[in-house]
Amino acid sequence: MNFDVITLFPKAFELINNLGVITRALEKNLINVNLHDLREYGEGSYRQVDDKPYGGGSGMVLKPEPIYKAHDSINKMKNSKTLLMTPQGKVLKQSDLLRWSSLDQLIIICGQYEGFDERVRYLADEEISIGDYVLSGGEIPAISIINGLTRLLPGTLGDAGSLIDESHNSSLLEYPHYTRPLIFKNMKVPDILVSGNHKEIKLWRKQKMLERTAERRIDLISKKKNENSKNKKNKKI
Ligand code: SAH
Repeated sequence: MNFDVITLFPKAFELINNLGVITRALEKNLINVNLHDLREYGEGSYRQVDDKPYGGGSGMVLKPEPIYKAHDSINKMKNSKTLLMTPQGKVLKQSDLLRWSSLDQLIIICGQYEGFDERVRYLADEEISIGDYVLSGGEIPAISIINGLTRLLPGTLGDAGSLIDESHNSSLLEYPHYTRPLIFKNMKVPDILVSGNHKEIKLWRKQKMLERTAERRIDLISKKKNENSKNKKNKKI
C-alpha cells in the first residue's frame, strides 16, 4: 500500500520509523510512505504557502495553489483516494481503515495554521477528523491513519488473529487481558483463564466484551441495534 502525504512538516513522519510493527511493515515493503513537502510547491523566492484570510480574522490560511500543485505532482494509482485532514470531517472509525485497506494508494493532505483555503476541499474524496478536538496540524492525524491501516495489512502483525476480537472491530470493546505473574499486588488472574477449558474461556471473554461495552460505551451497542433494525426495515420494503 502506498501513502502519499502532502505536508509542511515532513520531519514529523520520522515517528513512523520508530513505531514497532509499522517500522517492520516499511522494512518488508508492505507500505511505502512518500512525503511531499508543501514548501517545495510554495510561491516566489520565499516559497510562500500561506496568506491572510479574506475578510479578516486571526491566523494564516494555506493557499490553494501549492496544495493543488503538490497533488497534481503525485502519480495516481488505479485504486486511489485522497483524504483531507480536518476537524470538520467525518470522525474516523475502524470501519474506514478496513474500507481503505484494499486501496493501492492513499493520498493524505495535512493542514496547518487556521487550515486551508476552502477550494482545497474539491481535491478530497473524503474529509476526515480523528476526533472532536483541534490539533495544530494534520500530521498526527495522518500518522494515526497510516498506523491504524498498516496493522490491518496482511503480513504486518505477527499474529493476524489479534485483529479479530479487538475493540471496534465489531461493535464491542475487547475483553480484558492478563499475562504473568498469576498474582500481582494481591490481584489474581481470573481462575477461568488458567482452567485450560477453552470453551468456557471463550464464553467468559464474550461476556466480558458485553459487560465492558455496556459499562463504558453503551453508545456502540445502541448504534449497532439501530443499524440492525434499519437493515431489517429496508429488507421488508
Ligand atoms: N481553524 C480550523 C482548524 C485548523 S487546525 C477549524 O476550525 O476547522 C489546523 C489543521 O490541523 C487542520 O487544517 C487539519 O489539517 C489539522 N487538524 C486539527 N485537528 C484535527 C482533527 N481533529 N482531525 C483531523 N485533522 C485535524
